[in-house]
Amino acid sequence: MEIGGITVSEKIFDVAIIGGGGSGLRASLEISKSGLDVAVVSKVFPTRSHTVAAQGGITCAIASADPNDDWRWHMFDTVKGSDYIGDQNAIEYMCSEGPDAIFELEHMGLPFSRFENGRIYQRPFGGQSKEFGEGGQAARTCAAADRTGHALLHTLYQANLKAGTKFLNEWFAIDLIKNDEGAIRGLSCFDMETGEVSIIRCNAVVLATGGAGQVYEQNTTSLICTGDGLGMVLRQGYPLQDMEMWQFHPTGLYGNGSLMTEGCRGEGGYLINSEGERFMPNYAPKAKDLASRDVVSRCIVQEILAGRGCGENKDHVLLKIDHLGADAIMKKLPEIREISMTFADVDPIKAPIPVVPTCHYMMGGIPTNVHGQVITTKNGTDSVIDGLYSIGEAANVSVHGANRLGGNSLLDLVVFGRAAGRHINQNAKEASSLNISKSNIEESLNVFNKIQNTKKGETVFNLRSEMQNVMQNYFGVYRNEKLMKEGISKLEEITNRTKKIHLMDKSNQFNSERVEVLEYLNLLDIANATAYSALERKESRGAHAREDFPERDDQNWLCHSLFFKEKNVVSKREVNLSPKTMDAFKPKARVY
Ligand SMILES: Cc1cc2nc3c(=O)[nH]c(=O)nc-3n(C[C@H](O)[C@H](O)[C@H](O)COP(=O)(O)OP(=O)(O)OC[C@H]3O[C@@H](n4cnc5c(N)ncnc54)[C@H](O)[C@@H]3O)c2cc1C
Repeated sequence: MEIGGITVSEKIFDVAIIGGGGSGLRASLEISKSGLDVAVVSKVFPTRSHTVAAQGGITCAIASADPNDDWRWHMFDTVKGSDYIGDQNAIEYMCSEGPDAIFELEHMGLPFSRFENGRIYQRPFGGQSKEFGEGGQAARTCAAADRTGHALLHTLYQANLKAGTKFLNEWFAIDLIKNDEGAIRGLSCFDMETGEVSIIRCNAVVLATGGAGQVYEQNTTSLICTGDGLGMVLRQGYPLQDMEMWQFHPTGLYGNGSLMTEGCRGEGGYLINSEGERFMPNYAPKAKDLASRDVVSRCIVQEILAGRGCGENKDHVLLKIDHLGADAIMKKLPEIREISMTFADVDPIKAPIPVVPTCHYMMGGIPTNVHGQVITTKNGTDSVIDGLYSIGEAANVSVHGANRLGGNSLLDLVVFGRAAGRHINQNAKEASSLNISKSNIEESLNVFNKIQNTKKGETVFNLRSEMQNVMQNYFGVYRNEKLMKEGISKLEEITNRTKKIHLMDKSNQFNSERVEVLEYLNLLDIANATAYSALERKESRGAHAREDFPERDDQNWLCHSLFFKEKNVVSKREVNLSPKTMDAFKPKARVY
């Protein structure tokens, strides 16, 4: 087929999944096993997805470290961690289904670390408690040393090969194809090796495109984390939810951004300031260094602002683990030692590691129900978009609310990846015929054609770094109206200049500039979503800390925010406070 002067080939599958990370591969496995024809489209080889970088572990009440552990305690911690805007029906689902999903991974061959008695190893992580916050610190994060994501992703990839999943590796998905009835029935994409453009016709598309940490200058995420699925959703006129909520991990390696897992503190490490003082007990007397991530990040910034930062510029703090001893570090945190030695020239067996809060995780995303079906809202009423699913970090189901607890993302991937797979298995076959028209296809190639036909203008490189810089400086750990309004006017200017963006290289084979332009357009939409949602939420909650509204305001803001690209509108959506098997946890002051 010829569209706008380019030749477009066609493929047909029952289901297409965009993304070969942990969530995409868990969904594809479920669907493949049911006999449906499923393709995973991934812009990198699947085992290079960001999931591979997950270090600390996967949190779940499998009652291995403590035989009395209970998924309801995990649920309580997660609701509290979310600062009460996590949907309690979804959190209940994740925590109660979790153990089964973990044992399934174990049976697939995931090489978990073990206790002496042979059971799966679990370490303490931030925000974990027993007996609904009354029984002290819990140890609930299952780990494969400090490379849990690597183990998980390879296990799932192998299981998919066995199940016969089809892979389109190093294919870049451009946009969704919506038919005249408003159902999603495919996607447009191109093979990065040859530049050949294709459309995939299918009954259902699953967006498993991961996070968008690249929107900030300093982040712990891979270069591929550009939120492409979120851009696709916004271009269709659908909203994104809670985009003001970005997690700044307390311990990104200073000057480099690589993650130093929370497992370092879980194993007994702690933070010190320039005076050598362990400062967390001053802020969180009970949980100390294992308070929730948003809390610890703010405390580090406060230490730095008070002049107790380390180094020449007094702009970071130190993570001390040397007292754990060489043996424990080599056995439980080998990757951390290697990264620290390679990128900071510090051997943590001998000296503390320089760290600073760094953008790590996107709590917001594409709103879905517990089956992964994408939701849109009109006049306060939710409806499901036929044929569109989202899972993993791209999605907002929402189990993390305003702040994600460590280890809860990997659990989210496998629990909701499986749930979406099950729902598709039951429903995709019944979907109506694949009636998409030529103009539906043309529409999905608009962005691609537009950049392909530019003659002159600004290139992507400056625009992207300016945008990342604005996000870093105006929408970081602490926010206020004056700062954010300045940031928004800078983003407006960048958005206007972007209308004339120019793709210099029009070649087809491995054209990385084309990929960077498409990714940047998605990132810019996400930057705007974050900026407008953050300005709108006039309170402090979880990761969203406003100097001008320092208190949480449950009266007005115990709700989700929804951002629509058209006119940058932000509206509100109710939080689900109706778990199925128990009463909801009522909002309380969050003390650690
Ligand atoms: C350094 C680091 C450490 C972490 N450690 C932990 C941890 O210990 N425990 C925990 O619970 N969480 C951790 N997290 C968070 C967690 O790893 C991620 O949230 C999670 O792995 C995301 O998985 P995903 O399946 O959503 O997406 P990803 O693994 O990010 O995969 C996204 C996929 O989408 C594909 N894709 C994207 N856009 C396109 C496109 N346009 N076309 C085609 N394909 C596309 C990519 O190729 C990739 O396959 C960590 C995160 C980081 C950055």
